[in-house]
Amino acid sequence: MWIIRGLRKGVLTSEYPKRVSEEELLFSFPLEAPAECPFGAVEDGRFDYRKCINCRLCNVPFGQKTGLSEVKNPLPFRKSLHVFFLDVGTCHACNREVALLHSPNYDVHRLKIFFTPTPKHADVLLVAGCPTDGMIPVLKEAYELMPEPKRVLVLGSCANGALCDRKVEDFVPVDGYVPGCPPSPVQIIEGLLKVAGRDVE
Ligand code: SF4
Ligand code: SF4
Repeated sequence: MWIIRGLRKGVLTSEYPKRVSEEELLFSFPLEAPAECPFGAVEDGRFDYRKCINCRLCNVPFGQKTGLSEVKNPLPFRKSLHVFFLDVGTCHACNREVALLHSPNYDVHRLKIFFTPTPKHADVLLVAGCPTDGMIPVLKEAYELMPEPKRVLVLGSCANGALCDRKVEDFVPVDGYVPGCPPSPVQIIEGLLKVAGRDVE
């Protein structure tokens, strides 16, 4: 009965834009930058994208907020790449971006990037989140189980320690960093291609 009613009348889950005041819209999309970023991402006129959580309180252009992935040690092979993803304490937003890598829009298989359910088959450990007490042993074990050569790529401001007291690098060696809170799928792909030693335009 509810299905038939929904099909006939439609189902509204939000009253936007009818019930959103201009004030609320301005809060979401302000025109002026704050004098100081509340999260410390803008200091002395310099922008640190690692600390930016995309709260939109300022007007820093999105392109500047995202920054580029940094990878120190690309792997010594350039064909397929197997990735084990580990959430060590996320808000789940990074996970959702990682999940999109398998959607038709991004389809990482076409780039010879494959996710594995076990670190034993992985070339890259992809980690997101602030390491929690319960996940630190899991993080270390996953790293130990990976065959050589192996690399660790961390995602987002949490894993890098910009938003947390701990960072992934405190527990396992880190080879690369993908910025953003959360990073976009394109940034994650860029980081993975760089780890694989493939050139990125
Ligand atoms: S969008 Fe980023 S830089 Fe701008 S106020 Fe928010 S955290 Fe700071
Ligand atoms: S980096 Fe941002 S999006 Fe990713 S887990 Fe941390 S708070 Fe969430």
